[in-house]
Amino acid sequence: MDDCQVIPIEDTYQDPETELKNVNKEISNITREIQVLEGHKQQLIKKREKLKDAIQQQSSALLAQKDWERQDFPWSSKLDEMRNSVFCISEFRPYQLPAMNATLSGTDCILIMPTGGGKSLCYQLPALICKGISLVVSPLVSLMEDQIMGLRAIGVDARMLSAETPKEEVNLVYTAMTDPKAPVKLLYVTPERLAKSKRFMAKVQKMHQMGLFARLAIDEVHCCSQWGHDFRPDYKFLGVMRKMFPDVPILGLTATATSRIITDVQKILNIQGCLILKASFNRPNLFYEVRPKPPSPSEFIDELEKLLKGEFKGYSGIIYALSIKDTEELAKELRARDVKVAPYHAMLEAESRSKIHRKWVENFYQVVVATIAFGMGIDKPDVRFVIHHCISKSMENFYQESGRAGRDNKPAKCLVFWRYADFARQSTMVFTEQTGLDNLYGLISYCLDGNRCRRNIIAEHFDERWDASDCNGMCDHCRTPRETKRLDLRVYSEQLLMILTKALSRDQRLTGQKLVDAWLGKGAKDARVQEAIVKDLSRDRAENIVAFLILDGFLKEDFHFTPYSTISYIVAEGPIRSGLILACALPLIKTLIQVVVDLRWH
Ligand code: ADP
Ligand code: MG
Ligand code: ZN
Repeated sequence: MDDCQVIPIEDTYQDPETELKNVNKEISNITREIQVLEGHKQQLIKKREKLKDAIQQQSSALLAQKDWERQDFPWSSKLDEMRNSVFCISEFRPYQLPAMNATLSGTDCILIMPTGGGKSLCYQLPALICKGISLVVSPLVSLMEDQIMGLRAIGVDARMLSAETPKEEVNLVYTAMTDPKAPVKLLYVTPERLAKSKRFMAKVQKMHQMGLFARLAIDEVHCCSQWGHDFRPDYKFLGVMRKMFPDVPILGLTATATSRIITDVQKILNIQGCLILKASFNRPNLFYEVRPKPPSPSEFIDELEKLLKGEFKGYSGIIYALSIKDTEELAKELRARDVKVAPYHAMLEAESRSKIHRKWVENFYQVVVATIAFGMGIDKPDVRFVIHHCISKSMENFYQESGRAGRDNKPAKCLVFWRYADFARQSTMVFTEQTGLDNLYGLISYCLDGNRCRRNIIAEHFDERWDASDCNGMCDHCRTPRETKRLDLRVYSEQLLMILTKALSRDQRLTGQKLVDAWLGKGAKDARVQEAIVKDLSRDRAENIVAFLILDGFLKEDFHFTPYSTISYIVAEGPIRSGLILACALPLIKTLIQVVVDLRWH
């Protein structure tokens, strides 16, 4: 090697001062150019992502044009025969046959179908007519156990591997995986098993080499995506499957329909541009209604009693409540008024739970008052009403819970009782989840809406488009259009800001209820501001305006932990917290000129 070469640097300058200025100027010019280029680069990166998404969508659209309903595939008659003889099902439901035809012809597919639509059959039935084993990834051991019990009962050899599987069973399964004569057709595994067990993956590779890896079905496939409501880190590992086993078809199944999540899932699984099959989420026989929840528990019980002995007399239904305590108390109160009702929640012994379930199915109980623990596996076709005593935590949850009504396709009612107090009850429970608040706010805007078709709001959530005529008068707003009033929120928001500013200056925090108290000139005297007392609003309306301003982003919930609970305080978003209260608050208020709300008036 040569000695280091010394690069000569000019170290004598004639006019260093001027030169320095020039150099500085040049540096700042370059910096500016870099910034411009950097900005341009960022734009291009965004564009690149959008183009990739567009290509992905085009390819999916092209695949979707094929006729997947055909009955002349080599497997078509076998499929019919096994459906009848093994599952005792006489007809396919919409999208079941296309999903099976796709996966049987080796096409990657994501099937989106509401809960209860019959997604499992789409991998269970193909598994029976293929050589080898179909792997099924599922996030919950209880879901797997249910399916395996069901399959065994009809004589299908299905197995599972979870952390609790006994060693002998694990060994038996491992042997079966590479035995062409083994009767095992379906193997259910947790995502952890795939991601963490090298021994298992080695077996899968062997199984694949022997031509015995029939397909990979991924249940609840939205768990891959961080945008989903129940993201599972181990699902990310599934991305390697497409690379390791390029010829094994992947079938993803979910009831989550937002296109952002579906696009994300395709990227994570490396199945960009796969076939997307999406069943409609519209349930035409369900009537959707939202009512204001009466302010006191006793008035509320009165209203429920009237419903159960009037409109719903002789019909079977479910009331969903938020807590175990709520279900117990509500059931007690209703019993005292001679309604045949029982509480249902996770703290009951398994035995009494199934007894209550049975007596409800036999119509001895008119109603179960349940927490959301009641749901999995309910298949009662003639549920005529589902009442939400408290709002659900997301549109998805609401759709699922209310969707237990009218499974027999006859008319049924989904009634939500909404009151601002339940907002904070839910938000303090969900705010730690990644998309918890977004999801909750979505449902609250469904409740707050003053005049739009409820069905339309649900459709929008599931990225579907339904015409107003699709509702057919099957929601409160379409059946009896209500008078609404367009409110200018400028003065109101100014007043709320004054109250919050005063609280901030005194180092006080206000919950939504305390804020509304002060605004109405009630509650603690020192929280009120004389010029910020509203005279022309009822409490209900005042609360709804505060809720609207939170959804709108003008106000914000600020969560604080205490040893016993979590509290949601209301703060003004942005400048007010920085101390620049007046100077910044005014332009902020000006932007609110645009903000109006259609508030239901009668
Ligand atoms: P999902 O996973 O979509 O929520 P499941 O696969 O658990 O739904 O199926 C829900 C119920 O529908 C099950 O009891 C299943 O046996 C039943 N089912 C599925 N397909 C059909 C069909 N074509 N006809 C009648 N019942 C069906
Ligand atoms: Mg399912
Ligand atoms: Zn409607």
